Amino acid sequence: MDYESNVSEMDFENRMVDPAYNPEDAAVENPLRPRTLSEYIGQDKAKENLSVFIEAARQRGEALDHVLLYGPPGLGKTTLAGIIANELGVNLRITSGPAIEKPGDLAALLTNLNPGDVLFIDEVHRLSRSVEEILYPAMEDFALDIITGKGQMAASYHLPLPKFTLVGATTRAGQLTAPLRDRFGVVLRLEMYSPKELSQIVTRSARILGIEIAADGALEVARRSRGTPRIANRLLKRVRDFAQVISNGVIDQHSASIALDRLEIDELGLDSGDRRMMQAMIDYYNGGPVGLDTLAAAIGEESVTIEDVIEPYLMQIGFLNRTPRGRCVTPAAYRHLGLTPPGEAAAMMQQSLFE
Ligand code: ADP
Repeated sequence: MDYESNVSEMDFENRMVDPAYNPEDAAVENPLRPRTLSEYIGQDKAKENLSVFIEAARQRGEALDHVLLYGPPGLGKTTLAGIIANELGVNLRITSGPAIEKPGDLAALLTNLNPGDVLFIDEVHRLSRSVEEILYPAMEDFALDIITGKGQMAASYHLPLPKFTLVGATTRAGQLTAPLRDRFGVVLRLEMYSPKELSQIVTRSARILGIEIAADGALEVARRSRGTPRIANRLLKRVRDFAQVISNGVIDQHSASIALDRLEIDELGLDSGDRRMMQAMIDYYNGGPVGLDTLAAAIGEESVTIEDVIEPYLMQIGFLNRTPRGRCVTPAAYRHLGLTPPGEAAAMMQQSLFE
């Protein structure tokens, strides 16, 4: 196989199954976002804990402790931040780590909060050092320590802030600095959703969007959504177009599977990008181990995208292992690609020698 052309064929842009936020989703996502904990499907452990903390804060009339949400993109972190604010009856301010460029940007956000408000910082691991440093006293003592001027003209101000709740979201808890991580009183990990939970999400979204869907159609979309609500909602929209043409607009198992096959999303939710990555690992590295950066260079993809977007689901379904020496494709992945795993191929060869 021509290596160069193989690489350039790979198109990770605009993947249907990319769980990362895409502006195209906005129009659909807003009405679909659950507004209360009871509407929020799945994540039972996180929900149970949160409901206790929210109720306690509400009873005491205090701000909720700072909350850190972590897990792959599209699992409902922003949604949960909105729910927390809604359940507490306070305002929600949304920003992200890279958007807060200077300490002054954060100071402006914080001084504009009302008591009890929720400040949501997405990608909180990407805050700059200087911004993080003024965030520590803000989280801990609800105060800003600002230094103005230089040398003899320097003056420091201690500015009290309203008590607020910071909800931080990250795809990589490991990249958070220890002092920042320690300042979150509540740390919740979001898990990938089961097909059953996703089919409830798909059914709910279909109802809101006025789409007719049968239970087996919802399950089919759910099974191919990589455990991720954002993908499930996106696939639902696309499958609707096909169903309109092939089955009078009703999404059932038949129309859903035709649609998803046409979109080249296989029965496990893998698309050509996933299959090509695994194929490249098999063709060029004998299935691994291969280091992340080497793999990224080989398939023309950023390491962070591999780590945040492609790998979590492949690991979840047991197609990829992370070892200290690098990533390895598992025998299950070989079989899914219609190939014989190396161990089995050797065993078969040995057997045929003795026959
Ligand atoms: P994240 O912030 O983790 O990237 P979002 O909160 O933006 O993910 O969720 C993406 C979309 O998925 C939301 O618009 C929402 O419609 C849907 N969603 C996420 N979690 C749930 C859930 N538990 N129940 C129903 N819909 C959900």
